[in-house]
Amino acid sequence: MIANKIIQIGKTKWDRCTRNGSVRIGNKNLLFHTFSPLLQSSQDLMTYLEAFKSYPDQLSNAKMMTFRIIEADKTISALLEKANSKQLNLHEQHSHQFEKDVVESIPILIDPCMDYTWYKQHREELSQIPALPKELRSLISSLTRIDKQEQTKKLTKAEAFQQQKIIYEDFWLGLLAEPKKPADVVTRMLELQNAFGADVGLPPVPPIYSPKLLDVAKQINKISKAVWTGENCATYLVLTPEIMHSEGQIKLILDYLKNVDSKFIVIKVKNLELDKVSYVYERDMFKKILETINGIKKYKNDDRVFVLLEAGLQFYPAMSGGFDVVSTSLRALDKDGAFGRSANEGHGGWYDPKYLVVRSFQDVKKMFELNGGLPCQCPVCSNMKEVGKRNVWNQKRREHYIYSASYLSQEISNFVDQQRIELAIEKLSKSALSNFKRLLPFVS
Ligand SMILES: [Zn+2]
Repeated sequence: MIANKIIQIGKTKWDRCTRNGSVRIGNKNLLFHTFSPLLQSSQDLMTYLEAFKSYPDQLSNAKMMTFRIIEADKTISALLEKANSKQLNLHEQHSHQFEKDVVESIPILIDPCMDYTWYKQHREELSQIPALPKELRSLISSLTRIDKQEQTKKLTKAEAFQQQKIIYEDFWLGLLAEPKKPADVVTRMLELQNAFGADVGLPPVPPIYSPKLLDVAKQINKISKAVWTGENCATYLVLTPEIMHSEGQIKLILDYLKNVDSKFIVIKVKNLELDKVSYVYERDMFKKILETINGIKKYKNDDRVFVLLEAGLQFYPAMSGGFDVVSTSLRALDKDGAFGRSANEGHGGWYDPKYLVVRSFQDVKKMFELNGGLPCQCPVCSNMKEVGKRNVWNQKRREHYIYSASYLSQEISNFVDQQRIELAIEKLSKSALSNFKRLLPFVS
């Protein structure tokens, strides 16, 4: 029923806070360090596939795809349809050989998105998944009912929040108290990922902000391992920003990760914004996470793979400080509901590979005026003479980001080869994220 795959970690090479190497998941190979883009729309997927078709050798460190269950119908499902079609072309070859090769060689992750049983943002999309377990559907309707009462002013914002908190906690804590239900819900959410070709199963864990919810996540991870019995079922944790304020809870989480029996450990921190100057404490907590990950990998003889989802601007320190795979959206920002400024008329910002942040479209226009182009050697930017229309620009800047993230990942691997990981710190110091330079563990 569920595709169990062997996970085999190849030879590794360390330099203080990070390592090179690779892992095989069934027949697919994954490099450390890999950027795994989160493909949220058919356009994102097309951009990724086009980049691969055009310059595959420029994307050696971007060979993994992350999707969310809420968009799977428009993204991975469409890709699988082509890859699995029996259609032949005039030369009797598979009509979609490229898509078939992609699906057969590039590891796929499907996020079950239980975040949106707590966060409002994509709750509606979650409720529209036809195969969603009925228990989750009814939880979502209860939460939506409160939203409506807030909109019609029957409840204040604070009252609505309190009521939703009670419903949310009652659901997840109550679910585990029932005999068969948790296994049913977990099985259906894992089967959905399996149907979409996931190479690693992600347990449907709720976002956590308290020790009680951490216990729920632990239980769901445990049940998932009983359902998806292969080595390719991950341990998954979704942390809320509140957790980053609590050393006690971070300690509980790290103690759990030290002891958990999984080869794949996947973490997502919702709306992580460590770049704010005043977030000294939160950066300290993130550093603790990176240090612990390094410790676990070494203690477990390199037998663990760590993945960070929705990393946003933390992409670079996360990749150079402990995570083997890091995922972000093609906008390089992952905060729910982060939109560009309306003055730019839909032209999105450009990820600056030197400053490691997204530059505004105003900055982009200035760079074109002053230098006649953008300071980037990727195949997209080096051929771009003008910004162009909105749609063209938005596709190009996304394609540029895939190349840039792959180069940056590959560069970190090169630093390890040369035993000069301090160059990653230097890069952070010179970037607009110089706040992050003290994040990397074991490097001074
Ligand atoms: Zn570029």
